[in-house]
Amino acid sequence: MSTIPAGTLRDWDHANLWHPFTPLADWAAVDPLIIERAEGVYLFDVEGHRYLDGVGSLWCNVNGHRHPALDAAIRAQLDKVAHTTLLGVSHPGAIELAHRLVERAPEGLTRVFFSDDGATAVEVALKMAFQYWRQKPDPEPRRTQFVALDGAYHGDTLGDVSIGGVDRFRAMFAPLLFPTLRAPNPYCYRCPLGLERADCAIACLDAVERILEAHPGEVAAIVVEPLVQGAAGMIVQPEGYLRGLREISREHDVLLIADEVAVGFGRTGTLFACEQEGVTPDFLCLAKGITGGYLPMAATLTTEAVYAAFFGTAAEGKTFSHGHTYGGNPLAAAVALASLRVFDDEATLERLGPKAARLAERLAEFAARPHVGDVRHRGLLAGVELVADKATKAPYPPDALVGRRICQRARDFGVLVRPLGDVIVIMPPLAITLDQLDVLLDVLLRCVRDVTEGKSSG
Ligand SMILES: *Cc1c(COP(=O)(O)O)cnc(C)c1O
Repeated sequence: MSTIPAGTLRDWDHANLWHPFTPLADWAAVDPLIIERAEGVYLFDVEGHRYLDGVGSLWCNVNGHRHPALDAAIRAQLDKVAHTTLLGVSHPGAIELAHRLVERAPEGLTRVFFSDDGATAVEVALKMAFQYWRQKPDPEPRRTQFVALDGAYHGDTLGDVSIGGVDRFRAMFAPLLFPTLRAPNPYCYRCPLGLERADCAIACLDAVERILEAHPGEVAAIVVEPLVQGAAGMIVQPEGYLRGLREISREHDVLLIADEVAVGFGRTGTLFACEQEGVTPDFLCLAKGITGGYLPMAATLTTEAVYAAFFGTAAEGKTFSHGHTYGGNPLAAAVALASLRVFDDEATLERLGPKAARLAERLAEFAARPHVGDVRHRGLLAGVELVADKATKAPYPPDALVGRRICQRARDFGVLVRPLGDVIVIMPPLAITLDQLDVLLDVLLRCVRDVTEGKSSG
């Protein structure tokens, strides 16, 4: 237990702590929920109330909280060294982790650059891709542009916001951002091209191709969240979409950056989402689940061809002049390695099948409700999109805060989830049991009914 009383913590939170992505007046009006400890899939607040962690502590947690092997890995590393650097020296954890990631990543990704957050993993890929075209044999310095999708979310640094496709996050900073070539996203429920999935032949891929044709020799890379666009509202891509992007990028000699910050580490059913489409991107960006959800760490994997373009002496000036102080931190590397071992020891991916199947089956119950417009899922990740009118797909007015009210109500039943607008996100730790998954879905279904079907005031 904290030695500071809960009431004092709440006062100090309101007095001093600025929360991310948080409307401050709304926050000031509530008593913050203060999580003090956790066990498995459960979180406990300062008063001892228990909550099922329905979004894996913001899409990060994989093997459950307080996993003995992960806890032990950090303790063991703590007896050696907590932090050193990768600038000018190396350390065993970063070396082994780089090696293990290469062993498991799609064939051809052989070089690992560590940083500390998803945003930096993508920022590194953007800068490397840009610099690559200037330094490769037969340089193509005109390749300075990026193609990214509507609804894309790649993090909050200015580079990532530049390629990001969520207007709400971009608009304020527009004068600071570099221009990005924007392609329609495969949001099949609300197809931007007005087509039907059954016979569209993934026409939105043609739009990407047309952008490349309109900008010959100008595009450095296409950036995509493979299989599922997370922050856009868990937009699940049609089968073949990612493969199509890879083919188009090869035809036009453009690099492909796969941002697996959200979908990596088993979330979609395979360790990396790219595997499911047999795709090797030129850059693979990893973070969130890399340490099992324990410590900040990120990695940008790339190919020998990219690495070779940076290979030179100080005098040659090919150096990638970029680094983050805590990149590849030894404690984070130790727990990341332990988390990979847990994938093997507990057959995490093999045991995911039945859970994904149960999730899919139970989502049908949601889909049958009168205000659920669409349910989308892949592996152990799902989004439930709520609409005011199912027939017309008309959304609720934003100030109805339907998603938020549903998630707020779920807390009363001991479930912690966070919406994306009016999309309820379901993203529990992969270690969740079938029974716990049922509880999570029972509560959410009930709260969807309570709030959208007027079973109570919510
Ligand atoms: C969360 C996320 C990021 C940003 O990661 P941070 O660790 O929050 O900086 C980037 N891309 C995707 C797809 C994400 O989901």
